[in-house]
Amino acid sequence: MAYEEARALGFLYALAMFCITAYLWYTKRWTRRIGWFFLVITLALGFLIFSPFIPWQFQSLILRDARGVGGPLVVAAAGILVMLALSFLFGRFYCGYFCPIGAVQELASLVPGPKVRVGSKIWPGIIRGIFFLLFLLAGYLFTFGLLRLFGIREFFLVILSTGFFIFLAVIVIALFLYRPFCRFICPFGAIVSVPAMGSRFKIQRMDACVSCGKCERACPTNEAKISDLKSECYLCHRCLDVCPVEGALEYRIVKE
Ligand code: SF4
Ligand code: SF4
Repeated sequence: MAYEEARALGFLYALAMFCITAYLWYTKRWTRRIGWFFLVITLALGFLIFSPFIPWQFQSLILRDARGVGGPLVVAAAGILVMLALSFLFGRFYCGYFCPIGAVQELASLVPGPKVRVGSKIWPGIIRGIFFLLFLLAGYLFTFGLLRLFGIREFFLVILSTGFFIFLAVIVIALFLYRPFCRFICPFGAIVSVPAMGSRFKIQRMDACVSCGKCERACPTNEAKISDLKSECYLCHRCLDVCPVEGALEYRIVKE
């Protein structure tokens, strides 16, 4: 199959699964086991280049490299805009389950062992913001894609180069630190966190909440407090799993 067709099918996969996932969350049929299943599928499709690598496509857009997106730049731009719009409506399900880069880190985070928790959302945001500026400058001024330094393509194409081992190191870090690439580096993550902040559907505390704080301690991105806007919520379901009160946390439309 041609690269362009694979890309188009991959995007349709992410689009369809995004909508199905949002529906399962809304109807309370989602479980973490379903999530793990989808993560494994996304990872496998990532190795087959059937899953959209939106951060990479975003970089190709910045570099105006049509070969990198596997089709016309305008189509890639439209695909990215669709994902941003869906994230504004339903939250970051693409990042949570259908980005191969995110999926491999999420799976690494599930491996039991010691975990390092960054107690602030500010520092990851600042570091990612600085990287984003450097990424734009390198792309526009020097036509250089900074994401190339992370070996994403080499890893998923299983090319045993230096890049492959750099991305492997990112995955090893993800065993201890939740989603290091997403939270500290990803330029698409920097953009999508803005619409996600105002997403129409979010996990919300209901009147049944007894303020035990278990969800806040379980959340790896410090997004479970009542006041948190969920810009870095990857819909991992940890908060819902530890909540001891039925109906205290619900994924539902935000009431103005
Ligand atoms: S933040 Fe970037 S790398 Fe992480 S899941 Fe989202 S798009 Fe993928
Ligand atoms: S624990 Fe809850 S609030 Fe935190 S990232 Fe996971 S789903 Fe989002």
